[in-house]
Amino acid sequence: MKTVNAYAAPSATEPLVRTTIERRDVGAKDVLIEIRYAGICHSDIHTVRGEWGPVAYPLTVGHEIVGIVTEVGSEVTKHAVGDRAGVGCMVNSCRECANCLAGEEQYCLAGNTGTYAAVDRDGTVTQGGYSTHVVVDEDFVLRVPESLPFEKAAPLLCAGITTYSPLHHWKAGPGSNVAVVGLGGLGHMAVKIAHAMGAEVTVLSQTLSKQEDGRKLGAAHYYATSDEATFEKLANSFDLIINTVSAKVDIGAYLSLLTLDGTLVNVGAPPEPLPVQAFTLMNNRRSFAGSSIGGIRETQEMLDFCAEHGISPETELIAATEINDAYERVLKSDVRYRFVIDIATLA
Ligand code: NAP
Ligand code: ZN
Ligand code: ZN
Repeated sequence: MKTVNAYAAPSATEPLVRTTIERRDVGAKDVLIEIRYAGICHSDIHTVRGEWGPVAYPLTVGHEIVGIVTEVGSEVTKHAVGDRAGVGCMVNSCRECANCLAGEEQYCLAGNTGTYAAVDRDGTVTQGGYSTHVVVDEDFVLRVPESLPFEKAAPLLCAGITTYSPLHHWKAGPGSNVAVVGLGGLGHMAVKIAHAMGAEVTVLSQTLSKQEDGRKLGAAHYYATSDEATFEKLANSFDLIINTVSAKVDIGAYLSLLTLDGTLVNVGAPPEPLPVQAFTLMNNRRSFAGSSIGGIRETQEMLDFCAEHGISPETELIAATEINDAYERVLKSDVRYRFVIDIATLA
């Protein structure tokens, strides 16, 4: 066991504080990563505040992790000391169910092991990336291409893959008309990736305050959802809508924007249900779908796609002492567009 510096939530209601956590010894198939940068995902906030259900405290979150490999176990073949490594939202799965065998470990039928707040296969509770080191099985470690700016790459491990996966699965590309709801961490990556795939992208944001940014990110159109006229004007127009909103929205209003055979994919994860009228789906033969992160193979494909297209997240680098303030800003939709913790400030 190794004791390392970390930031952790003592309870659902207290601010995160500096502390130490334990990392397991490096096993034969394990990789030790010295973490350099960790992104702040809205899921971290939902989790530490108990919004998705009870969790064990103290809890260290963070599942957008990049760092340098500093030690490898005797049987490791995929990673070497000195490599740039990434870890996303999961660190293990059963590896034998149909979904794992299909490379969709996020849908492991026995449940994937989350990077934090999960009971790992060895019985310990996983702790996330707001820390200086992590030990992960090599099969759940990604290679971060050298051409990606390292201090910006971490958010790809969750925000990047969570938006790439549905855009890829529902075939966003030339000729498709894609809307992205919510311009935060996930939303801004959805815009960049959909644009790079060749789709025509529209942002649906609460206000027009980020319109200039949206266009720079690759959106051709930008509308405020606080304006009723938006929903009338855009009725029946999108092939694919990616909803990234962290709060409950009137999902029927967005479904009515889908064209014939269009699909609304929900990736935002509010704790409340999102009720749907049957008639809204029947009209235009619409589909309402969900999508969870992405498999390991697809995550590597996304990293390589972003490197090839020169795409990286828009980030604001903060010290660990600024995590609690960053949480408040995320909750106010005041994020441009992902906070990344400089883990050197935890040393
Ligand atoms: P974020 O940075 O906070 O972005 C969410 C955006 O939603 C905000 O920037 C805001 O955009 C919009 N929004 C927030 N509150 C709203 C409200 N009350 N009404 C309408 N719009 C609102 O969060 P994130 O990190 O991108 O995560 C978004 C959601 O996805 C979270 O629920 C997170 O847990 C979930 N998530 C899911 C997966 C998955 O696998 N499916 C993976 C990661 C995250 P505007 O200012 O542009 O309106
Ligand atoms: Zn996340
Ligand atoms: Zn499985």
